[in-house]
Amino acid sequence: MHEYGIVQTLLARVVQEADSRGAIAVRRLQVRIGELAGVEPELLTWAWETFRERTVCADAVLEVETVPARWVCPGCGTDIVSGGLLRCPDCGVPARLESGQEIILQRIEMEIPDV
Ligand SMILES: [Zn+2]
Repeated sequence: MHEYGIVQTLLARVVQEADSRGAIAVRRLQVRIGELAGVEPELLTWAWETFRERTVCADAVLEVETVPARWVCPGCGTDIVSGGLLRCPDCGVPARLESGQEIILQRIEMEIPDV
């Protein structure tokens, strides 16, 4: 499953980040996922809850924010509505995908003990 791989990569990154900052626990993380990334948010959450066990992320909540796909004209920069013909009505050139395929680790909240 696609989501498994994403979660494993995500977890490895968060654990590394937590280690480097001496965190004792990760509380929450926010991920932005493009609607064209082929990721099912529910499956991602489920995979997360499976993989986070016995790691510094054991109690970390995964928040998934879906980013809508957005196309623009590479010529004039006009937004192009998805669902229709993906071509600029003014320039006639094919639209360029601006966002919608990204998987971004947006934010990590962790607990770092006072030294
Ligand atoms: Zn245009």
